[in-house]
Amino acid sequence: MEKKIRRVMENLSNNKIKAKYFTTKEEAKNEILQEINPEMNIGIGGSMTIKDMKIYEAIDQSINPVYWHWMVKPEERPEVFPKAQYADLYLASSNALTEEGELINIDGVGNRVSSMFFGPKKVILVCGINKIVENHEAGIKRIKEIACPLNAKRLGLKTPCGITDKCNDCSSDQRMCNIIVTIQAKPALVDLEVYIINEKLGY
Ligand code: SF4
Repeated sequence: MEKKIRRVMENLSNNKIKAKYFTTKEEAKNEILQEINPEMNIGIGGSMTIKDMKIYEAIDQSINPVYWHWMVKPEERPEVFPKAQYADLYLASSNALTEEGELINIDGVGNRVSSMFFGPKKVILVCGINKIVENHEAGIKRIKEIACPLNAKRLGLKTPCGITDKCNDCSSDQRMCNIIVTIQAKPALVDLEVYIINEKLGY
């Protein structure tokens, strides 16, 4: 394991956040599926990492109900958001994971970031090594210069970052970074775990 990843894991542990390391996304996916027992329902946040890992498809939904707003019509999302937030297990990724053991995330609506620290019994955040940054400042820079432009393009948004790849702290109606949340230590009521995978995943 790289020294940098070891440092991240040590600092997550110092912040009372559990962390596991996986060489491949398949190993991490298997571990997530092992975590799921027949009594659980599952919530999923907007995440290209979770989508690319095909975790939604791997869960037997005749046993475990899965609530993911990406899989329903826009008008059904308000009903799905709270079910996902109060699920037994919530799956998402993080926009940035600092070497100091902090998780930094942006959100336009807030459903994803709020579900990371309040609501679910357990949260697993799956992070490829591309999400690791040196510190908080580098995390915000990563979000504004990498995550937001790529997400804007994916969603066809006309924000400045989506058009020019640069953030101008816009006041667009389509602004995606209305909310920025830093988790500095384990949220009191959530069993939070970070899965670090030695691959580049999501953005
Ligand atoms: S403030 Fe606007 S331009 Fe900057 S990252 Fe957010 S959505 Fe993009």
